[in-house]
Amino acid sequence: MAERRRLIAGNWKMNGLRAEGIALAGGLAAKALANKPTCDVVVCPPATLLAKIDRAFDAGVIKLGGQDCHADEKGAHTGDISAEMLRDTGCSYVIVGHSERRADHAEGDAQVRAKAAAVLRAGMTAIVCVGETRAERDAGNALSVVEGQVVGSLPPGAQGDNTVIAYEPVWAIGSGSTPTLDEIAAVHRHIRAVLDGALKAAATEIRIIYGGSVNAANAGDILDVDAVDGALVGGASLKIEDFWSIIAAADAR
Ligand code: PEP
Repeated sequence: MAERRRLIAGNWKMNGLRAEGIALAGGLAAKALANKPTCDVVVCPPATLLAKIDRAFDAGVIKLGGQDCHADEKGAHTGDISAEMLRDTGCSYVIVGHSERRADHAEGDAQVRAKAAAVLRAGMTAIVCVGETRAERDAGNALSVVEGQVVGSLPPGAQGDNTVIAYEPVWAIGSGSTPTLDEIAAVHRHIRAVLDGALKAAATEIRIIYGGSVNAANAGDILDVDAVDGALVGGASLKIEDFWSIIAAADAR
């Protein structure tokens, strides 16, 4: 079985003015220096903070990520940010297809795929988010919905060093509810099978991480699920101690 290095990614979403962001990044950088995590750690702050906090992560232990990007390299797209700009600001990862973008900006799989391709074009790793709504799960369609999103959103050339899949059930995000461990395992195994079918050997090293109300208390159990290669963390990534407990839980496994 492939050994995939665990990945813990923090998504700050639209949170953090300059002083808070600098304090949070400084606290995380100090933890990283003292504890030297062995898992991969990524922090995705709002774009306004990227240039302010990249120096905090100079030691290279914590990587910087963007929360979204435009599919084009440059041009007349007021308010948008290209993958190349994120790369230029120190990012090495970009989240694409987060359910909040799919919902707030009506992003479909084709657009997510184009954004993921832009991330690869710029030499970074795309964290491609997929996940079913509560209604879709209740109707028994979780696996088929997620399969459709994975197939539709995967960028050409996807492989372990440029693509991560984040399984994030929409109903679990920010809600305090999570699927059972068996439900998480079932979806992750299904995604693994879909990747194997679509990409053959190139799929082996692609990490499939779980997101949706991961916290310091449940991280260990979720990371113990053998099909789970890490976590995408929203709310708990805004608290130094909580986020670090999740990183420590990943390192302990
Ligand atoms: C997220 O936004 O990707 C997320 C998983 O949020 P939370 O951890 O707050 O549920």
